[in-house]
Formats: sequence, structure tokens, C-alpha cells
Amino acid sequence: TMACLTAIDASDPLNAFVHKTPDIALERARAADARIAAGEVPAMCGIPVGIKDVYCTKGVLSQAASNVLKGFRPEYESTVTQQLADAGAVMLGKLNMDEFAMGSSNEHSCYGRAVNPWRRSGDDTALTPGGSSGGSAAAVAADLCLAATGTDTGGSIRQPAAFTGTVGIKPTYGRCSRWGVIAYASSLDQAGPMTKSVRDAAIMLGAMAGHDPKDSTSADIPVPDFEAMLTGDIRGKKIGIPREYRIEGLPAEIAAIWDQGTAMLKDAGAEIVDISLPHTKYALPAYYVVAPAEASSNLARYDGVRYGHRAKLGQGDGITEMYEKTRAEGFGHEVQRRVMIGTYVLSAGFYDAYYNRARKVRALIKRDFENAFADGIDAILAPISPSAAFGLGEVGDSDPVAMYLNDVFTVTLNLAGLPGVAVPVGLNAQGLPLGLQLIGRPWEEGDLLNHAYVLE
Ligand code: GLN
Repeated sequence: TMACLTAIDASDPLNAFVHKTPDIALERARAADARIAAGEVPAMCGIPVGIKDVYCTKGVLSQAASNVLKGFRPEYESTVTQQLADAGAVMLGKLNMDEFAMGSSNEHSCYGRAVNPWRRSGDDTALTPGGSSGGSAAAVAADLCLAATGTDTGGSIRQPAAFTGTVGIKPTYGRCSRWGVIAYASSLDQAGPMTKSVRDAAIMLGAMAGHDPKDSTSADIPVPDFEAMLTGDIRGKKIGIPREYRIEGLPAEIAAIWDQGTAMLKDAGAEIVDISLPHTKYALPAYYVVAPAEASSNLARYDGVRYGHRAKLGQGDGITEMYEKTRAEGFGHEVQRRVMIGTYVLSAGFYDAYYNRARKVRALIKRDFENAFADGIDAILAPISPSAAFGLGEVGDSDPVAMYLNDVFTVTLNLAGLPGVAVPVGLNAQGLPLGLQLIGRPWEEGDLLNHAYVLE
């Protein structure tokens, strides 16, 4: 814990930790020492972790990187962070992210951009750590903490993991409680760990997962010992390679790492099967209807009355002006764009044409996966992102759709509720990490992590 706190103090250029909690960290570290001395060593005992700013942490600023939540100190602790604390984890502070987890580069944050500790060889251009869990990924990659929490609505754990050479798992929807996790799109959001290794991810997921009566979508399904399932034995398993993910213009380095990962699984005794997920191309547009629709509803609560920021009012301003000014000042541009898109697709005149249609597409995407698994596929191997980490400011500043295209491989499994694990597989010609994702059957994170263990 002391080593991490020292490293964090020297890490300002990364802008990963946005609130430090050294007092809490030292108190919990001492408590962990006491537990160890008493012969009681829970799974995360004394392990220093960072917490994404989207998790409510009691008495500690929790702003989801938004000015609208400026100064918000929750009265309660999220279930996931409480479970981590109960398992002995030591919270070092809160981590940067895209505002309300909307973004793929951590460039939409009230704290400013987070920076990737990796550089292209011979080139000092500052790169994105990915998003929205960019601070979590940067902090783990730069050894500021041993592990971090992330959330994944459409790729926000897996893409930052890929951009920083770290491991991240988005569990099955319902595996981890969403209680106290500030909502973006409630039917897609999932909490998960971001770590340095598959083994760490297995241990930390075990601590984060479990049924919570406070979240009606949390599943009452036993949490197995994920770590015990890491045998490295995948002989006879069937790995699906979805042909629709070989999109036009897929960069050669991404195709090459995908082939490399396929060969590694084959060498370990798995059978490689060409599969089709025919509705894949509709996933991204469906996601960018469903997610903003839910966001526009979830973000209605930031009205200047209950939380955080309230605009200064002028003479004659009434409650309507208070709402309008507060929301105009408090929300960043990307969040405002999503609220407008979401309101539009849910409006009486367009609901059927957009929202209802996207819901139907979602059902078809889910069925594609179900068919593959019914055919005996154990896990699906696919790219995570169409590129390695890109330069800050390089994508999307004037063209938000270019940024959305980054999510083309990740949103599918959120729409289907399935687990997906990101694992670093190699480096590109510039020396940047490249990762791949494995997608698994619902509730079979242990088996999925075992496949990732072979790729690591
Ligand atoms: N980049 C996607 C979005 O902006 C996914 C973000 C996430 O998973 N939270 O919606």
C-alpha cells in the first residue's frame, strides 16, 4: 500500500487517480495486517486497488467524472466495493473515466484526459488508455495499484484492457450487483475487475460477484471458485471464430494477432470452428439506440435538486431555468449528445422506428450467440478493437461516429448479456499491446477465464 501511494503521488502525468484516499488506504492496510496476524486471510486481504469514479464510495467523492456530480459524497457504499472491502481489499482512491462511462478514450472527463503509460517505440505521442475505464487501465498498467474496478456497458473494461496490455472481464449480466454503481444504460452495465493477470481477475471477480437483493437484476446463482478452474486444460474444447468479425478494412496487425491467438488455442488442444453470427453488423447501431435511450432516462435525475451541482440563478429564473442551466453547465458535450439521441429515439413519433426496432435487433443478436453455443461452441475468439491505442485527440474530436466505430467488436455481447474476457496476446510493430477477447456462455466465467489463461 505504501509503495502504491508513493507511485500514485508521482503519477500526475497519467491523470489516472483523480481522488486519493491515503487515510482510508492506510487504515484498511493496518486492518489487513491485523487479520493476517489473526490467521484470517480473505481473498483480497491487503491488496491495494483503485476504484473507478462511477462506484459510490461512502463519504468519498464519487462524480462519475461529471461536473453535474461535483462534490457528491454518497451516504452509502456500492455493493461491489463493500464486498471488496469485506474481502480485505485496500482502496487507494478513485480513478478517471469518461463522463458517466460514455466514451472509448477517456477524453470526455471533467478531470481531463487520462494518459496511457505505453508509447509507440521512438515516438513520444501521448496515447489514450481507452475508455471509459481509462483511469483503471492506466493505473493497473503503470503499477499504481495491483488491480482496479471497471464497468463495461459496451466495451469499457475490455477495450482499455486491450490498449494497456492488462486483463479485464465483463461478467455475465447479473453476476455483479449494480447497486451503487452510477447508472449509464441499466440493461447493459456490468461491473468487473481489471488486473495484471488472468489469475488475479479470477480472484477479484470472485470477491465482486454474488447475489444482491438490492439489485433486482442481480442473479441468485452460486459463485464458484474461479481461480480453482484455471487448469490450462482446454483439450477438446470448441472455439468459434466468427466470420462476421473479419470486417472490411480490418488492419493487418489485428488480423495477425487474431490468427496468433487462434493458433495458441489450437496448440493447446482446442478445436477451431468457423462460425457465423449473422446479425453482427446491426449490433453497433442497435447499441447506439438502446444505450442513449436508457441513459437519457437515467440521467433525468440530475436536475440540480438532489445531487451535486446547481447553477446560479438570475433574477426571475424559476424551476425550469434552474433545470436547464444546471444540466447545460453540468453535462459535457458527449453526455448532452447522448441525452438528445436517447430522448429522440424514445419520443412518441420515433419510438417504433428506432427504439423498438433496436430491441428486436438485440433479440436477434442474442439468438445468434445462443445458436453458436447450442452447436457446441465453448468460447468465441474475436478482436476487441479495430486498432491498438490511438493518440489523444486523434479520433472523434469532430466526428463522434468515428469514436463509436471503436466499439464494433465489443457491444455485441453486452446486448446479449454474455461474459467476455480481454487478454493481452502480443505487441504490434510499434511495440504497443494488442489484446483479444473470448466470449463465453452465460455464468461460465470460470471456463472462459481458463481459456484466457492459455492465451496469456
Ligand atoms: N464506448 C461505449 C460507449 O460510449 C461503451 C462505454 C462503456 O462500456 N461504458 O457507450
